[in-house]
Amino acid sequence: MLFLNEAVDEAAASAYTSLWASLLPVGREAGTGGYRRFAWNAADLACREWFRGAAADRGLTVETDRNGNLWAWWGAKGPGAVVTGSHLDSVPDGGAFDGPLGVVSSFAAIDVLRARGFRPGKPFAVACFADEEGARFGVACAGSRLLTGALDAERARALRDLDGVTMREAMERADQDPEALGADPERLAGIAAYVELHVEQGKALVHTESPIAVASSIWPHSRWRFDFLGEANHAGTTRLEDRRDPMLTYANTVLSARKKARQGGAVATFGRMVVEPNGTNAIPSRVTAWLDVRAPSDEVLAAVTEEIVDAAVARSDRDETDIRAERESHTPIVEFDQVLRNRMAGTLRPSFGAVPVLPTGAGHDAGILAAAVPTAMLYVRNPSGVSHAPGEHADDRDCLAGVTALADVLQELAQ
Ligand SMILES: [Zn+2]
Repeated sequence: MLFLNEAVDEAAASAYTSLWASLLPVGREAGTGGYRRFAWNAADLACREWFRGAAADRGLTVETDRNGNLWAWWGAKGPGAVVTGSHLDSVPDGGAFDGPLGVVSSFAAIDVLRARGFRPGKPFAVACFADEEGARFGVACAGSRLLTGALDAERARALRDLDGVTMREAMERADQDPEALGADPERLAGIAAYVELHVEQGKALVHTESPIAVASSIWPHSRWRFDFLGEANHAGTTRLEDRRDPMLTYANTVLSARKKARQGGAVATFGRMVVEPNGTNAIPSRVTAWLDVRAPSDEVLAAVTEEIVDAAVARSDRDETDIRAERESHTPIVEFDQVLRNRMAGTLRPSFGAVPVLPTGAGHDAGILAAAVPTAMLYVRNPSGVSHAPGEHADDRDCLAGVTALADVLQELAQ
């Protein structure tokens, strides 16, 4: 079945198109076509200015909370609020859609609701969360984690970027008070529902008739550090049988991770490594590498990770190398609010039919807020599945469907 076409609201089209066009050039790198909107840098500050402008154009009242998150209120701020939004920062050379699509769609949805003559019966806000990607200071969803208390303020202030600048210094330079950072339970208690629209970061919808999906869960996620220890020696004169080569153990561990993930229905990635001494003509003494593992359930994640570690240990015995494996972080599964999900599915059915329900392997502010607030997500189809790269894309038609769907959901929640 198919929805849109004539059903696409004129208000959605014009609001979405002009908002999108005004945000698109902000912080785009000419060389790569990607974005470097990192927390509190010039491009990020320009995005925050853009947010204030879009809110002002709609007569919304903007406030910055103690953690640097922006809130644009339609009408008076108050308890029982319906909140929508996303983030505007990016990964290095990130795409245009991850984050911004949710913020643009939120403002466009307000225009659609106004065009329908709707006025919210509840407090209503568009939120823009600070530092979602963690590209600069290494902690993803810093703004929402600080808000819920999942990230300690003292720890956050001391985080450093690659140039040695602390979050404290970066915030001070941006006229944001770092001393104010910290959990804000009062603000959270005032939110009745948070709905985040986001570009899909995979290809599940491309094989369906539906331009949108409702999120079911966010996969649990672990990061591990592996140190493979061997013996540095001459690349020309050391016989193969005399070597203790940690690169060999590492290489086999990469292959094992791929195999165990495939067999277990998980994903596993070695995306970062450091080699010592890092010489072309020297057998390495040490390889340090970081493993990212994600799976549909906490049980599968634990089982697959254990198999990868076991395989690495077995291989190191064979190579006569040593190995240390240490878990650096773990994020348990997030199940989005079942009542809210069902209500959204019911609201969307008349216009969109039975909307697919999808899990995702990507983290979001919505996943952090879900610990404190009834939370849901809407995904917009991404035809290539590419994300966190300049090729990230969603078709205008699908984005407009997303705006309409978000407006439908917000109208139902805020009536
Ligand atoms: Zn995002």
